[in-house]
Amino acid sequence: MKCQMVIKNIFSFFLFFAVFFNSCSKTNNASYPDAQIELALGTVCIINLYAGGKDTVYSSIFSRIQEIDRTMSVHKSEFQHMFDEATSLQPAASSLVSGIAAINEQAGIKPVKVRSDIIDVLEKALYYAELSDGAFDPTVGPLVNLWGIGTDDERLPSENEIDETLKLVNWRDVIINREESTVFLQREGMAIDLGAIAKGYAADEAVRIAREAGVRSGVIDLGGNISVIGLRTDKGATRHWRIGVQDPLSDRGGYVGVLIVSDTNVVTSGVYERYFLQDGKRYHHIFSTETGYPVDNGLLSVTIVTEESIVADALSTVVFALGLERGKALVDASPGVEAVFILNDKSIIITDGLKNIFSFESDEYTLVSLQ
Ligand code: ADP
Ligand code: MG
Repeated sequence: MKCQMVIKNIFSFFLFFAVFFNSCSKTNNASYPDAQIELALGTVCIINLYAGGKDTVYSSIFSRIQEIDRTMSVHKSEFQHMFDEATSLQPAASSLVSGIAAINEQAGIKPVKVRSDIIDVLEKALYYAELSDGAFDPTVGPLVNLWGIGTDDERLPSENEIDETLKLVNWRDVIINREESTVFLQREGMAIDLGAIAKGYAADEAVRIAREAGVRSGVIDLGGNISVIGLRTDKGATRHWRIGVQDPLSDRGGYVGVLIVSDTNVVTSGVYERYFLQDGKRYHHIFSTETGYPVDNGLLSVTIVTEESIVADALSTVVFALGLERGKALVDASPGVEAVFILNDKSIIITDGLKNIFSFESDEYTLVSLQ
């Protein structure tokens, strides 16, 4: 079953990729032979550098992404697991090392020394935890493990289990010591999960490495977490990038519209990325830290467009968890941050800054303007 899910995800991902990129290039029917693909961070990572992209740049970017995966992922990626089996590769010893996993193992026991990049990302996550009054919480790990969404063990837990587990979720119990470079989880059983922010950090690192190497045009797509550099310059033409905003209810990779952008990051959190269905109800992977159940507030997805991918990634989850009203107020109060909200009543709301760059292309949804 796990294997099936992985295959389904890979399949739908490639389908999305095909739909998105073909739709972007209908006029010249371009293909993308130069894209390089690796499995990391629990997803498919696709990098396509146009102006200035050499093999050495791709390999520096991928080794940095793999390093972030090894140290910041709680579990080894399920795709990687399948990939290792398929190619009979033995995982390198280093792939079993995880900074976050070590912090979790020592929860309630002792502080763990970790690299400064882990502390940087964790501090950013704690900033968003405070900003959202705990709706976003990087100590959500025990709840993620209890539900097991997207794993062989996914299930609807009992209310009692949920209540007990919720007691272990509290970002205020993370103690960071910058000088010693240590992190301590105050209570046994606590666990950090950076799933809502690590891909954004990895994308920023990828863009940084590419730019430092002189790349002036390219796209970095970490499982739908998209960063674009410059304008698109392949096939002898220069034009904006066209990024599809996925229809959260379509399992065939359909999209509701296209963002026409350059030099930015687009990240979506939604009910469709990982979920299971039981008795006609959908249980997805973003949890309410108040109820312990998947967030159920009328939102199907939130897409954030902004200058840093780590901000886009964190905010997409924060805003999704806060709901339309509080989430939109936060976006409106954040300079340089724009958003697309898709609701389960089939309406779509966009912030003012997207009015000229979002091309709405759906018969099923309605674009609503809010004042
Ligand atoms: P995706 O993983 O699809 O890119 P997100 O960025 O929204 O989507 O991250 C979702 C992940 O974040 C979950 O799989 C889980 O690991 C973690 N998570 C779930 N609920 C919360 C929450 N309330 N606060 C912080 N992280 C969460
Ligand atoms: Mg996120």
